[in-house]
Amino acid sequence: MAALQDTKPENLPESIRHYIGGEWVDSIDGDTFDVLNPVTNEPYIKAASGKKADIEAAVAAAKKAFEEGPWPKMLPRERSRILHKIADIVESRGDQLAAMESYDSGLPITQALGQARRAAENFRFFADLVVAQIDDAYKVPGRQVNYVNRKPIGVAGLITPWNTPFMLESWKLGPALATGNCVVLKPAEFTPLSASLWPGIFEEAGVPAGVFNLVNGFGEEGYAGDSLVKHPDVPLISFTGESRTGQIIFGNAAPYLKGLSMELGGKSPAVVFEDADLEAAINATVFGVFSLNGERCTAGSRILVQRGIYDEFVERYAAQAKRVKVGLPSDPSTEVGALVHPEHYEKVMSYVEIGKQEARLVAGGGRPEGFETGNYVAPTVFVDVKPDARIFQEEIFGPVVAITPFDTDEEALELANNTKYGLAAYIWTSDLKRAHNFAQNVEAGMVWLNSNNVRDLRTPFGGVKASGLGHEGGYRSIDFYTDQQAVHINLGEVHNPVFGKQEDAAAKTDG
Ligand code: NAD
Repeated sequence: MAALQDTKPENLPESIRHYIGGEWVDSIDGDTFDVLNPVTNEPYIKAASGKKADIEAAVAAAKKAFEEGPWPKMLPRERSRILHKIADIVESRGDQLAAMESYDSGLPITQALGQARRAAENFRFFADLVVAQIDDAYKVPGRQVNYVNRKPIGVAGLITPWNTPFMLESWKLGPALATGNCVVLKPAEFTPLSASLWPGIFEEAGVPAGVFNLVNGFGEEGYAGDSLVKHPDVPLISFTGESRTGQIIFGNAAPYLKGLSMELGGKSPAVVFEDADLEAAINATVFGVFSLNGERCTAGSRILVQRGIYDEFVERYAAQAKRVKVGLPSDPSTEVGALVHPEHYEKVMSYVEIGKQEARLVAGGGRPEGFETGNYVAPTVFVDVKPDARIFQEEIFGPVVAITPFDTDEEALELANNTKYGLAAYIWTSDLKRAHNFAQNVEAGMVWLNSNNVRDLRTPFGGVKASGLGHEGGYRSIDFYTDQQAVHINLGEVHNPVFGKQEDAAAKTDG
């Protein structure tokens, strides 16, 4: 059988370079790495591989733009206008963006298009939020007025993963830029293509040179990601990626006491009670784990099903999983495309083999028919999965789901909480009291009741336990990217302390 080929997008650049201080540049040592297309696994473009020296140049450019340029000093309204322009441009280039994202990452084109729209919306949202923001002020009757000055912090280091790369970059770029910071973005090495579109978009929208800087390359010690985390002039790191990487970054940032936001891995439960709308629950849980090729942090990859409906659920779920359309990423009818990279494909396939030893396979379990090359994994369903199984405990990050039965609400909760992760939870029941009770006690940063993971951009996003540190989304992002300086104004009746009247003065001051 001939090897599969996907349609190459138009206007591919010749190579992917860094963008520093408003200029496209190669790595200082000239090093590059190959970027693979997930359908052929052949290199289709070279990207510059950044190291410490490249990060130093990018941070210096960002610092200069922050200290000397107009960006942090602009009125929120002025930055907001530019952010809206960015959103307009992203929207107008949705097709091109989606084609590039899909070719680079293996995501189905329709889903990549949806993510491009979401990226535009992220910019629009933060453009609106910074102008609508209510400033804090406190009146202490007769004594003081206190107000809070929100100030951009400086150079923010943004480190992003390869799943939905463009959208996840927008998630950090939107609030970091809206609040007046300058940034250095280090996108994931598996998928650098769509990030190379940001400079053109930002230039066209009027973002001054040096405000946005891009350094491509790897994350490990001595490479771009690690060097960004260890740079003393970068007080903030916003990271999305694996929990293990988050731990390493946490350690490396500690000597500098950096502000950290960590959006990490997940193994989220979808709990289906006997009184649920079964049709809706099956549709949503099939979509929840197989969309975005299963490479979704909030995937409901453990489904817990109450015993009375277990057999019916399993039968219908497996049938539906078998109907999910696997195809070329560029084909608009494709529902599951190719996994991002052969390394990740091997990892997911190794879990499929582990699952065959640990549980009962009812759908998938290998390559889909007709896809003998490329990183293709058929939507795979394991049932009767025990809680100590590795496929129950560990994040697979592919189109693989573990289904486990339970009897009581207490057992469901115990199973739901029985992993190190705590990102999302999905609850399917028609009993509101049960749903709320479960939501209160489940260890998850985000809970959806009778819903897939639609999220209003105002709500907090983040996980507990090994799934993250801090929250982003809405005002939480504004908080993360700003210093909040309190200014206390004496209205005339605050008596300055004099020794001899220490008790009164001490009662009103902090340590
Ligand atoms: P990863 O941790 O391997 O890499 C993420 C980024 O970190 C990449 O840019 C990488 O180059 C960089 N990096 C690696 N080592 C580094 C180091 N020592 N210092 C600095 N940077 C370093 O993650 P991945 O495989 O790209 O992405 C998949 C993971 O991301 C999954 O675990 C998924 O759940 C998680 N994720 C979480 C969310 C969320 O919001 N919670 C969203 C998307 C993805």
